[in-house]
Amino acid sequence: MQAIRKRPEDVAGANLEHYHKTRTEFSWEQARKMLDGFSDGALNIAHEAVDRHVANGLGDKVAIRWIAKDETRLDFTYADLKAQTNRFANVLSGLGLGKGARVYSFMGRAPELYIGALGALKAGAVFCPMFSAFGPEPVTARMSIGAAEVLITTETLYKRKIAAIRKDLPDLKEVLLIGCKGDAPEGTRDLGALMAGASPEFAVVHTAPEDMALLHFTSGTTGRPKGAVHVHEAVVAHHVTGRYALDLHEDDVFWCTADPGWVTGTSYGIISPLTNGVTMIVDEAEFDADRWYRILETEKVSVWYTAPTAIRMLMKAGIEPAKQHDLSHLRFMSSVGEPLNPEAVMWGVAAFGMPFHDNWWQTETGGIMIANYASMDVKPGSMGKPLPGISAGIVEKMADGTLREATKPMTIGQLALRPGWPSMMRAYLHEDERYNKCFVDGWYLSGDLAMCDTDGYFWFVGRDDDVIKSAGHLIGPFEVESALMEHPSVAEVGVIGIPDETVGEVVKAFVALKPGFEGNDELMLDLLGHARKRLGPAVAPKIIAFRKNLPKTRSGKIMRRLLKARELGLPEGDISTLESDEQ
Ligand code: ATP
Ligand code: MG
Repeated sequence: MQAIRKRPEDVAGANLEHYHKTRTEFSWEQARKMLDGFSDGALNIAHEAVDRHVANGLGDKVAIRWIAKDETRLDFTYADLKAQTNRFANVLSGLGLGKGARVYSFMGRAPELYIGALGALKAGAVFCPMFSAFGPEPVTARMSIGAAEVLITTETLYKRKIAAIRKDLPDLKEVLLIGCKGDAPEGTRDLGALMAGASPEFAVVHTAPEDMALLHFTSGTTGRPKGAVHVHEAVVAHHVTGRYALDLHEDDVFWCTADPGWVTGTSYGIISPLTNGVTMIVDEAEFDADRWYRILETEKVSVWYTAPTAIRMLMKAGIEPAKQHDLSHLRFMSSVGEPLNPEAVMWGVAAFGMPFHDNWWQTETGGIMIANYASMDVKPGSMGKPLPGISAGIVEKMADGTLREATKPMTIGQLALRPGWPSMMRAYLHEDERYNKCFVDGWYLSGDLAMCDTDGYFWFVGRDDDVIKSAGHLIGPFEVESALMEHPSVAEVGVIGIPDETVGEVVKAFVALKPGFEGNDELMLDLLGHARKRLGPAVAPKIIAFRKNLPKTRSGKIMRRLLKARELGLPEGDISTLESDEQ
């Protein structure tokens, strides 16, 4: 597929207009100087995200525009946010909980989630968001691992999912409820009442840059979720990567569609947009194509950060709905979380007049590492290039166990990073061995396989566990999935390897079809033929199975390991983050 060239007018004024120059001159010390910090060397994420802007005269600017399910709007200016987060910090302090306290949230995207996160950080507490659709078991696991002391949740969620497991959470001291109708249930407090009685003045706790700030659990795509520990210093990376990878400018209206229950929804759904002083949109409701187009239009969204699953759902509905809206304010679109098929990048051009810009990172890295930034030519299917301050490489394991960086372009190897950027995890909580295993010979090993081309663009191949070995070939599921996605009938596809006596593994594809298509033999033959033509017989799938839906994590990632376990009748493993399961 041809590269999408940027015109001079696309590039002018982009934050990363001069990639090589910026990369050469970049240092994390300088990036830190973009922020305030405190004169004693302390650094606090919430100060940088909120109070700094009020001090700099941005108090009246809308920081968060919150859209309720019924589409009523509620605006919080930076000054409002300062006052509200101060109140929450005072509520915590009043309960004797401050520095180091573990504060968890378990709720949908209500304003209190954002206020709670930033207020907790102001008080020096550690914040851990949990996705509201989790059942009691994953909630108990996450709260036990992190020794949760405070939980902010809704009265409904408390009664439905927490009350019964409370006895299993001995560290939990305080439960703060929103949406209390009448008196708060026994053992809980009404957060609204506490907030109303708290002072809007608070002196932000001077946390050290290395103090723990956030605990984020990984998506659980490949196994049991890990609790990644992040520190206040991470804000330096949140801030600067928002500028470089998402091209945030102060006059932007930015919409990150991820839920804060996942790291994207915190790093780029709370911290980065606010440190960059933009107006950010929060939509309380779940995905709905019509609603999303309406929000993009009505709110005049200029920078939009979303995910492949959502893009594929929009694609399912065709380009017509996009064309019916005035989306002239949209300047930059990007995607993260899963490989973005070239087909989806190009669909962006057809529907919105611009490509989706893929970028790559992980819960562990805390921020965007590799990106298609605004000023670069986009090669559909590539994740882009490492950001300033990030050195990435493709490494191969040698026979003696040491690592060697691949020098030949397009060699498949582990995607690895040189540690040292501020938002890198500092630990997997209580899992030192698992953590230490990630670092070998001065590299952080991501667990993903990728390639790098002669222009320095990185290409995702698959997760280490998902790569298929067939007749001496290493087949990346992404390549096969992308070829099938080109077929007009395919809405979604997950590819796995099935053990085979002759060739080691054969490729099997699970396909969900677009509306109006029927999964019959004729279509199967057509798909097999299409794949063989595109990929050659060695790489093309041998078997195709039609599914109504593919198993996905709640953050929207296809769980190939589950497709495989089910196919082979193996144990399903940890499925705490599994969402759609309709077969
Ligand atoms: P777990 O580690 O628990 O199995 P997870 O890896 O899905 O879950 P996250 O940290 O949320 O948890 O996701 C990071 C992973 O998502 C990356 O390692 C990569 O496999 C995938 N990913 C993220 N962005 C991209 C991208 N742009 N292209 C391809 N894969 C991506
Ligand atoms: Mg992972």
